[in-house]
Amino acid sequence: MPAAPYWELTVAALPEAAEALQNFAWELGALGVVEEESPGGPPRLRAFFPPTADPPAIAAALREYVASLRTLGVALSDEGHVTPLADPGWAEAWRAHFRPVPVGRRLLVRPPWEREPAGERLSICIEPGRAFGTGHHATTAGCLELIEDIVERERPARALDLGTGSGILAIAALRLGVAEVTAVDEDPDAVSNARLNAAANGVAARLHCAVADAGALDARAVPLVVANLTAPAHRRLAAAYRRYLAPAGTLVAGGILASEAAGACRAFAAEGLARRRALERAGWTTVALTAD
Ligand code: SAH
Repeated sequence: MPAAPYWELTVAALPEAAEALQNFAWELGALGVVEEESPGGPPRLRAFFPPTADPPAIAAALREYVASLRTLGVALSDEGHVTPLADPGWAEAWRAHFRPVPVGRRLLVRPPWEREPAGERLSICIEPGRAFGTGHHATTAGCLELIEDIVERERPARALDLGTGSGILAIAALRLGVAEVTAVDEDPDAVSNARLNAAANGVAARLHCAVADAGALDARAVPLVVANLTAPAHRRLAAAYRRYLAPAGTLVAGGILASEAAGACRAFAAEGLARRRALERAGWTTVALTAD
């Protein structure tokens, strides 16, 4: 008798819905979720489910979710579908998405099953799990690039990572030489994941992780704040960022669609945060700003 199949959910994933769709798939019990570029079309989200999954229930939940996104004004270009996974080596297929990625001039982000590569790059080991931030997303890569540059030039002793996800930005800052980082996320799963990743990278003792809202910290002012969130979140948090920054400190803000960058920078400027550098990757803007 052939082995019972694994199941695959596939759906178009617009940038503004990608994170929500990933969370939706994890909550349905996915074993792995990947976002894939598809030539000539929007990126696709693929989520893998075990043989014990209930495909009609997953398909029904997907239809309902896509419809609810539509009422929020996010129209996906397809309805998505659930099919038996043709390739029984799904785990390998999933893993194959997480190759080591070089970022910036000195960093390399790798999953735990890839051996530490020989070479000059400083490698950061991140378990692709439930939390956002594997280094493959343009917003994370943009933040890493700016953090690398700023840490090298300004040597900040401490930093704050708001919305840490997998902990990738905090871990990179620590590996690049920042002595201590405080990282917060409102999602407890992300905080546990960040702690595991910090331990895997030997920086757990220097990373202080907590479940908290990025806007409500009673934090000592630091020379570097990093926040890979969204443009609306940045507008809401701009005054808090200013409060957390020491004079002449630097904010790295990511997760801003290129079309939202001017508006976000106006909100930052209103709080005394002057734009110093911006870079664009795959339609996403990351900005570095200095507090006056
Ligand atoms: N820093 C990682 C993850 C970014 S994803 C990276 O660059 O790849 C954004 C993260 O911020 C998510 O884990 C989400 O749970 C968290 N988040 C969103 N709004 C938040 C808020 N107001 N306070 C704390 N965490 C928040």
